Amino acid sequence: MSHAAADRYAWTEPEVEDLGGGVHRIPLPLPLDGLKAVNIYAITDPGGVDLIDAGMALVAARERLTGALRQLGYELGDVRNFFVTHIHIDHYSLAVELRREFRSLISLGEDERANMIATREMLNGTGGHRVFGAESLRRLGAAELTGRLSELERMGPMFRDWEDPDRWVADGADLDLRTRTLRAVHTPGHTRGHLIYHDSAAGVMFAGDHVLPHITPSIGFEPAGNRMALRDYLRSLARTLALPDARLFPAHGPVTGSTHERVNELLAHHDGRLAETLAAVTAGHATPFEVAKAIKWTRRQRLFDDLDLFAQVQAVNETAAHLEVLLIRGQLTRETSPVGADLYQVRTPTA
Ligand SMILES: [Zn+2]
Repeated sequence: MSHAAADRYAWTEPEVEDLGGGVHRIPLPLPLDGLKAVNIYAITDPGGVDLIDAGMALVAARERLTGALRQLGYELGDVRNFFVTHIHIDHYSLAVELRREFRSLISLGEDERANMIATREMLNGTGGHRVFGAESLRRLGAAELTGRLSELERMGPMFRDWEDPDRWVADGADLDLRTRTLRAVHTPGHTRGHLIYHDSAAGVMFAGDHVLPHITPSIGFEPAGNRMALRDYLRSLARTLALPDARLFPAHGPVTGSTHERVNELLAHHDGRLAETLAAVTAGHATPFEVAKAIKWTRRQRLFDDLDLFAQVQAVNETAAHLEVLLIRGQLTRETSPVGADLYQVRTPTA
């Protein structure tokens, strides 16, 4: 591994990082290809611990968390609250497992209710595919990918116990911890119910997956789906910029000095993607699938055909989200083909 690559993954090392003010970053392991770890943040006081996010329900993650808390002088039973940023398995599932044994309370954004319902339908077999975004493939012109989906449905960590949180948190709620107040800010986009937790007094932003320092968060990758995910996400980024700047405490990646700096980079990234998407439609690519194949993917500028199936499903859905923003902005029109696929065209000014 090169030096740069080693630095890039330094944050995944199993070490507790003291961030001052009684806040510690605890990276927990993940079994996912691209994502090696998830940060959870422990906020401690003499009476106990509150955690931002919980990690994935895995023996290795639970052991790591137990060890990290012990290092700080606490036990799992001292965890009072899990303030979870969003419903994804790597943030939520360990909280459910630990709540069975201890009395901790789980808080989650109220707009994740639809995802909770869709997840249960998926597990009961009443909600169609288990791969998020698979339902929409026909509409996105990518029906040919659906035949291979069973490959994906057999794999993956399966967590079955999707239980409700104790508290569905509303936008703007102030959470009174013993040492500080966190403001829950609804930031839909990554998922529809994502929350960031802002401590304006301490100048700290617990950003979940809304703002990540090294990677671009996926958009609308959620069981309930969200056609307007990118529109929502861009609004959420603007909303984040309207808050006072704060140190960035992300769920994946190292802590950085400024949330705003990264938000501006993410906005610039999506501006670039929107321009590429518009150029592809101008060149005659009409369905989200065709457009996705016409543009490059990941930091390494890979071809669509070189992505694995899972990444292709995500790429087609991301492309559709960009097309919908161009539609809302009046730059494109959309009609439906005879087989039910969305066809986009550049809007020509009417004379
Ligand atoms: Zn995550």
